[in-house]
Amino acid sequence: MQRPLYPKCMNGTRTRALTADGYIVPCCWTDSYKSRQHKIYKQLFDPALHINNFENVEDIEDSIIWNKIEVMIDYGHEDLDICHRMCGRPNEKDTPFRQKIRSE
Ligand code: SF4
Repeated sequence: MQRPLYPKCMNGTRTRALTADGYIVPCCWTDSYKSRQHKIYKQLFDPALHINNFENVEDIEDSIIWNKIEVMIDYGHEDLDICHRMCGRPNEKDTPFRQKIRSE
């Protein structure tokens, strides 16, 4: 099922993150003990997606798992509970940093 989602990772206000153990995630909020147990987010920590297996970040983002999760984020899939908690409402504040990112 779909729920309204305003993904900061897709509107330029949140960037990819590199975890301490070598995985790229859509944002730092998706790197936690809980996310690594979650049926969807844990797929980002598949050993096949470890940075040692890739030449660049774009190739990780082009993986089947990343494409699937990005489609789910774009759709607002209800099972993405971290995303709905952190990005379930439009940005109320437009900080100077966000304005700068958007203008670049
Ligand atoms: S919580 Fe989800 S929707 Fe929000 S920035 Fe992170 S990955 Fe994107």
